[in-house]
Amino acid sequence: MRKVLFIDRDGTLIKEPHDFQIDAYSKLDFVPHSIPVLLKLKQLGFEFFMVSNQDLLGSENFPLASFQAPHDLMMNVFNSQGISFKEVLICPHGPNEGCSCRKPKVGLFKPTHFEGMDYQKSFVIGDRETDLTLAKNLGVKGIKINQDIGWEPVFVEIVKELNVVTKKRTTKETKIEMTLYKDGRGVFAGKTGIDFFDHMLDQICKHSGLSIDLNAIGDLEIDEHHLVEDIAITLGSSLRDLFDTGAGKERFGFVLPMDETQCLLSIDFSGRPFYQGNFTWQGDLIGNTNVRIYEHFFRSLAMEAKINLHLDVRGKDNHHLCESAFKSLGRCLRQSLTSSTDLSIPSSKGSI
Ligand SMILES: [Mg+2]
Ligand SMILES: [Zn+2]
Repeated sequence: MRKVLFIDRDGTLIKEPHDFQIDAYSKLDFVPHSIPVLLKLKQLGFEFFMVSNQDLLGSENFPLASFQAPHDLMMNVFNSQGISFKEVLICPHGPNEGCSCRKPKVGLFKPTHFEGMDYQKSFVIGDRETDLTLAKNLGVKGIKINQDIGWEPVFVEIVKELNVVTKKRTTKETKIEMTLYKDGRGVFAGKTGIDFFDHMLDQICKHSGLSIDLNAIGDLEIDEHHLVEDIAITLGSSLRDLFDTGAGKERFGFVLPMDETQCLLSIDFSGRPFYQGNFTWQGDLIGNTNVRIYEHFFRSLAMEAKINLHLDVRGKDNHHLCESAFKSLGRCLRQSLTSSTDLSIPSSKGSI
C-alpha cells in the first residue's frame, strides 16, 4: 500500500517570512533538516505531495513571475538532492473568495491521490491549524512542525506511528484483536486461556523488546489448535507489516542453551515463506496441550510473516524445548528490529 505525505510549503519546507509571501530569492530559506529527513522518509517508501495556499497568487501584489522564480529554485534544490514531489498542488485564491480548493478544504485533491493509500501510514505535515484540519478532512494524521526547530521531531513522530500495527481477525472459531508495538518495552498484555501459551508469548515480548496487546477468544472447548494458529497468523502478518515499514532487513540466528536443551533458530525476513523445524519431543504433551500445536505456531507465523525460519531444538524436556524456541525467536526479532533502524538494504540486489 502507498504511504503518502501531504506537505505544506511555507513554514514547513521553507521558512515563512513576516509578510507571508516568498516573492524574491532573498526570501528563500529552508526549514532545518528538511532534506536529510525527507531522504530518510523516501527510503521508508513515502511519496511526497506539496499542498500550499498562496494567497492571491497572480494578483498585482503577488505576480506569478515573482512567485515562480524562488519556487523553481526551491524545487531544483529538492530535485537535485533526490527529493521529488509527485505533484505540487496550489490554491491561488484569497481567504475571502470562497473557493473549494483552499486548505483545509479538499478541492485540490482527486480520487487518484488516495488510490491504494494506507490511511494509517499517511500524514499531513504543516505549520498551521488549517493543515491539521486538512489532515482530519482527509482522514489521516496531521503532524505540526515548528519552522525554527524543523524536521527531526517530525521524523520521530512518523516512525513512532509506523511502529504500531493493529490487526483484527474474526473467524467462526476465533476472534483476535492484536496490537503490536515496536517500542522496546517488551510487555505482553493479554490472556489466551492457555497459561503455557501466555508464558510463551511473554517470552517473545521479553526477548524481542516488542510489546503485544492481545484480546483473544477461541473455541478452547474443542481444542487449542484454532486459537494458537490464529494468533500465530495475526502475529505473523503484524510482524511482516512492521518490517515492511523499515528498509533494513537482515538474516539472524541465535543459539540458546536451556539446561539440557539447546535451541538453534535462524530467520531471514526475506519475503519468502519457508519453515523447517526439528524438535526432539518427549511424548505428545506439555501440560494438557499437544506439543505439535507449538510447532504449528512457528510454521503459521513463518508463512504469514513471509520469513525463512529454521529451528533445531534438542533436549529432553518439552517445556524447555518449547520455551527455548520462543525465547530464541524473540532474540532474533530483537536483532532484526535493531538493524531496521539502519536504513540501508542488506542485499546485493538492492532490494528484498
Ligand atoms: Mg504553512
Ligand atoms: Zn482555491
